[in-house]
Amino acid sequence: MLAVVHAPRELAATTEALRAGGQRVGLVPTMGALHAGHMSLVQAVRDAGATRVVLSVFVNPLQFGPKEDFSKYPRTLPDDLELCRAHGVDVVYAPAAEQMYPPGFQTHVEVEQLTQALEGAARPTHFRGVTTVVAKLFNATGPCVAAFGRKDYQQWRTLERMAADLDMPVQVLGCPILREPDGLAMSSRNRYLQPEHRTRATAIYAGLRGASAAFAAGERRVARLEELARAGVAAAFDSIDYVTVAGAQDLAAPGEQAAEHSVMLVAARIGGTRLIDNAILGQDCLV
Ligand code: AMP
Repeated sequence: MLAVVHAPRELAATTEALRAGGQRVGLVPTMGALHAGHMSLVQAVRDAGATRVVLSVFVNPLQFGPKEDFSKYPRTLPDDLELCRAHGVDVVYAPAAEQMYPPGFQTHVEVEQLTQALEGAARPTHFRGVTTVVAKLFNATGPCVAAFGRKDYQQWRTLERMAADLDMPVQVLGCPILREPDGLAMSSRNRYLQPEHRTRATAIYAGLRGASAAFAAGERRVARLEELARAGVAAAFDSIDYVTVAGAQDLAAPGEQAAEHSVMLVAARIGGTRLIDNAILGQDCLV
């Protein structure tokens, strides 16, 4: 039976009772508009030993910039609950904004270095919003295993750092990117795409694949790898925020040569929609 809870205290009481009964809690934080990528995280926490799964649905105003898509972000709670039922999720936590941030709220969590470049440069207040809300989710859930998608690679690394730095009793998992049959990374934002843009959007995967194939064939020059990924994206998209190779752990800019398991990250805009994707070189996008 799926339980739906709305207040932080209700969630805390529910997970406490589960743990007292010997269950191991898994947490899957989301903004809803659920798709198979989110459901793969439900499976991931189970694979990591969770016997009960909490999935949160919260479109977090703190992580959207003033000109971003907060008001038009898809909100599909009835469908989300159906999907959660079908996948055996035990608890959905769906707080209202006033429950998450009551009047007087003024405390934030910041991870300093990992959040400077890439998404942090393009979206200056984004990560502070993400780390603050996820810290609150971790606190309300208590000891658990929590799954994040590598689709949001910098977010995963940032949250892993936050949990370690603040001694949070949470095991943070980073899980593989689920893709559509044509390679487009699944995303709630894909539903914004007009058919023509949807077709062109596969250029990101093609670019990542090109760079990954070159890396597998021995290419290590960062400039060349970035050029390979960039060319197709530049032709298909309206603008590019970045096409960058970065260190897999610290996301630092590499020297001239890419190391094994560097990550190639892309952010680009098409028809008013901003998409992100990435591949770990030598590991992903090799088919
Ligand atoms: P969101 O609802 O977009 O905030 O995403 C919630 C979680 O699902 C984050 O940890 C995302 O990285 C993850 N996620 C989103 N899309 C995918 C995907 N295509 N494959 C795997 N995980 C994903």
